[in-house]
Amino acid sequence: MKSFYSSSIIVLLFIGCSRVPITNRQRINIVSDTEILPASFAQYKGFIKENKLSSSPSKTKEIRDVGQRISKSVDKFMRTNGMEKEADNYRWEFNLVEDELVNAWCMPGGKVVFFTGILPICNNMDGIAAVMGHEVAHAFAKHGQERMTSSYGQQLGGLAMAVGTSGGTEESQVLWNTIYGVGSQVGMLAYSRLHENEADKLGMVFMIMAGYKPEEAVNVWIRMSERAEGKTPPEFLSTHPSNQTRIENLRAYLPKAKAHAERINKEAVSR
Ligand SMILES: [Zn+2]
Repeated sequence: MKSFYSSSIIVLLFIGCSRVPITNRQRINIVSDTEILPASFAQYKGFIKENKLSSSPSKTKEIRDVGQRISKSVDKFMRTNGMEKEADNYRWEFNLVEDELVNAWCMPGGKVVFFTGILPICNNMDGIAAVMGHEVAHAFAKHGQERMTSSYGQQLGGLAMAVGTSGGTEESQVLWNTIYGVGSQVGMLAYSRLHENEADKLGMVFMIMAGYKPEEAVNVWIRMSERAEGKTPPEFLSTHPSNQTRIENLRAYLPKAKAHAERINKEAVSR
C-alpha cells in the first residue's frame, strides 16, 4: 500500500511538472484548469454577491479600464506562446469592492477584485496597473494551484475538497480563501516569498506591454511601506520579502522586464 502510494505521488509529480512562462521557473502543479475553473468562477460569483460593490462609477471604471488593458497583454502573450486553449478558458472580470482592506486578488481564470482600501496605495492609473499586473500574474503563473499541489502532499483530501466543492461547505470556503488570500487583513498574505517575487516580475512585464509606466511599481511599494510602518504583523514579515528588498528587486528587474515586454509585443505583431 505504502509503495503504491509513493509511486502514485511520483507519477503525479511527473505529470504535473512544467515551467512558468517568461520566468522559466520549474514548478509542480497537478491541478488542471478543468478542475479549478468551475470552482473559481462559483467562488467569485458568491463573493461578489455577498460583498458591497463600490458606489463610485468613476473609480470602478478606472479598475475595469486598467484590467482590460492588462488582460489584453496577458491574452496576447498566451495566444502567441501556444497557450490559446488556456486563453479561451479565461473569463476576465474586474470589480471594485467597498472595503477598507488593503488588498486585491485575482482568482484562476481572470476573476479580479480590488478593495477600495488599496486605492490610496495605487494612487494613480499606473499604480493600479502595477497592482493589477501583480495580482493577475499570480493567477497566470498558477501560484494558488501550486500551493494546493504542495498541500496535497501534506494533507490528502484538502485538494479534493478545495477543488471539488464550488463553495458548498464552510470548510472548503475557508481553505479556498486561505489559498487565494481573499479576506486577509493586511492583504496579499497568501503567497510565499518566491511567488511574490515572481508575480512582481511578471506583473511588471504585463504592465509595460500594456503601455503603463513600470517605475510606478516601485512607488507603490514605497507607499505600502510608509503605510505599514509600525503596524506590519510578524507573519507578513516572515513570509514576504521586506519592502526594501522588494523595491530593490523591482528596480533591478526593470531593464529585463522592458526587454521581455518589447520582445513579446514584437512577436505578437509579426504573427
Ligand atoms: Zn502577491
